[in-house]
Amino acid sequence: MNFYGLQKLTLLDYPEKVACTLFTGGCNLRCPFCQNSELVIPNLYPEPLDFNQLLDFLKKRSQILDGICISGGEPLLHEDLSLYLKQFRNLGYTIKLDTNGCFPEHLKKLVNDGLIDYVAMDIKNSKKHYYKTAGVSSINLKAIEESVQFLLQNSIPYEFRTTVVKEFHTESDFISIGEWLRGAHTYYLQNFISSSYVLESNLHGFSKEELERFQTILLPYISNTKIR
Ligand code: SF4
Repeated sequence: MNFYGLQKLTLLDYPEKVACTLFTGGCNLRCPFCQNSELVIPNLYPEPLDFNQLLDFLKKRSQILDGICISGGEPLLHEDLSLYLKQFRNLGYTIKLDTNGCFPEHLKKLVNDGLIDYVAMDIKNSKKHYYKTAGVSSINLKAIEESVQFLLQNSIPYEFRTTVVKEFHTESDFISIGEWLRGAHTYYLQNFISSSYVLESNLHGFSKEELERFQTILLPYISNTKIR
């Protein structure tokens, strides 16, 4: 596998950590609101990073940075991800993984092997509207449900998060999501923001008041529901 991008510093992506973010290439989904089209559509991939140079950077920054966020694309597509995570671990980094939850066995293996410390899992929508929101004609919901169940067991610190898009989400979706994720530790609503990198044009976010309404719907199910 390759890494296709490095954000050298983030104070936002990894809760309570000073971190950098590494981006993998490739994804099994095609969420129309995806902000990372150049990491999802193979012929748009940028040049891969030189891994030795990346390791040099991480060695030099290990006194300043606490953690590394592994994002994508979908990092768990890559069977050899653990080989890279071990090298980051050896440099003393804590590791956060961003995932769409489609690969529960790989997720569990990395957690059980002690190679990740925090998971941020996307919840694209209610189960009824999941495949459409993920931009694919069919989806293995069982796999996503398995990842949710695994995280709900609190084997590892985690958050669920939904990018909220006017064309895909309604109040009734958030009732369904609340029932599904009931008792979750943390759930973030992230408003959709358009950019030139988005897979599909003409999508819209919600107003602050609308987001707060969704939060109110979710709070009885997940008391730590936040707007990001
Ligand atoms: S938003 Fe995430 S899961 Fe969806 S296409 Fe983009 S990288 Fe893949």
